[in-house]
Amino acid sequence: MSNSLHTKDSGNSDHADQSKQQRPHIVVIGGGAAGYFAAIRAAELAPHGRVTLLEATRKVLMKVHLSGGGRCNVTHHCFDPVKLIDNYPRGSRELRSAFMRFQPRDTVSWFEGRGVALKVEADGRMFPVTDSSATVAKCLESSAAAAGVEVCLGASVVKIVRDGESFNLTLKDGREIGADRLMIATGSAPAGLELAAQLGHRLEPHVPSLFTFNIKDPRLAELSGVAFSEVHLSLQCPESKRLERQGPMLITHWGLSGPAVLKLSAFGAVALHASQYQASLVINYLPQHSAAELQGMLRAFKAEHPRRTIAKHSPFAQLPRRFWESLVQYLGLDNERTYADVTKDEMERLLNELHRGQYQITGKGVFKEEFVSAGGIHLKEVDFRTMESRVVPGLYFAGEVLAVDGITGGFNFQAAWTTAWIAGQAMVASLPV
Ligand SMILES: Cc1cc2nc3c(=O)[nH]c(=O)nc-3n(C[C@H](O)[C@H](O)[C@H](O)COP(=O)(O)OP(=O)(O)OC[C@H]3O[C@@H](n4cnc5c(N)ncnc54)[C@H](O)[C@@H]3O)c2cc1C
Repeated sequence: MSNSLHTKDSGNSDHADQSKQQRPHIVVIGGGAAGYFAAIRAAELAPHGRVTLLEATRKVLMKVHLSGGGRCNVTHHCFDPVKLIDNYPRGSRELRSAFMRFQPRDTVSWFEGRGVALKVEADGRMFPVTDSSATVAKCLESSAAAAGVEVCLGASVVKIVRDGESFNLTLKDGREIGADRLMIATGSAPAGLELAAQLGHRLEPHVPSLFTFNIKDPRLAELSGVAFSEVHLSLQCPESKRLERQGPMLITHWGLSGPAVLKLSAFGAVALHASQYQASLVINYLPQHSAAELQGMLRAFKAEHPRRTIAKHSPFAQLPRRFWESLVQYLGLDNERTYADVTKDEMERLLNELHRGQYQITGKGVFKEEFVSAGGIHLKEVDFRTMESRVVPGLYFAGEVLAVDGITGGFNFQAAWTTAWIAGQAMVASLPV
């Protein structure tokens, strides 16, 4: 790795450097997952070319190191592109054909072929068997070095000018670099998006995705840590259509989290941002049963066990005990009340809370394991067969800089690997021989 660059005007007359300068030059901006993957692919396919990767900071692959709580959730165990795209609130249509070319199975082979075995967890997330994101980062760095990628640190690109069929790049420290093919893989960094905008690209505004819901409600107070294996959530933001998701949910100190909530936050990211994270949420705690079935079950339990206290005896084995006790208390059914004492009206209210409990979201929390945002380069302006810009020929994009985002579970890295692999390959294919 170096921070020295042979710039356009370095005036170096050394023969080896001259021949290096004459080779077609592919420049990748951004030393993250997408930048590395594309640079490696390009360098491995183009021994006649030269591949340079420019990273603004002094440390590459920062997000890879942080990802998945330090374990790096590399991809998801879903090898059917048609099913896979359901996990992308934005970009699913474009990714469909891209996944036909490079999908999670290919990611697994790519890493395993370089000595990084991956394992699957019960929910489909795939991690290195070492449970360490450093393994993934090291693999990318050593693959780049082996392929001859020149990695330059502290190389922040501030300006790109089109020069005929090539590009002239200016770095923050004033150095200039020429590129025959250029890839922007700067993630969600505003500076990278600004470079694309300067070249004429339209941007979708960036808004957070994958977050938890802040809810202050007496029904959830004191229940932090209570988990549900399956609930149905229905989100209504003002002036947008209702969104629904089903899955596990967790009550936290500040409101709600868990897979169903995170999915809903991703699919509702734009609407929730527009409503300043004020929205109504309806929770069905027992989605396996219809309202009529629940009523029947409650009535049958009451008829069978009239002397049992309601607080201590729930007819629904799948509901966490703490939640049930807290709910009946909230409804005023104190500890001594038996099923025989419960009125028809109270039974109705209980049923209502279980089947369609209404809550008010008052803000957005954070999901520490994965931060992702929606927005980026407008997808209509990118040809997903090559990841080349439809606005500026010779310019390519990959990773989070695009207006593509996935739910949590390894889908965001997979989008980065796929788009980068395609772009790396296409940049080489388009070079003059
Ligand atoms: C804490 C955290 C945990 C995550 N965990 C997971 C996970 O487990 N699984 C998953 O699928 N996804 C995860 N994600 C999301 C995933 O990390 C991203 O989708 C992925 O890293 C995007 O890769 P990228 O290369 O497109 O962008 P980035 O990783 O953001 O890389 C962009 C690079 O470009 C550089 N750069 C920016 N501007 C310039 C410039 N002008 N000149 C030069 N360089 C520049 C930046 O410094 C950066 O190094 C996580 C994200 C975070 C933040």
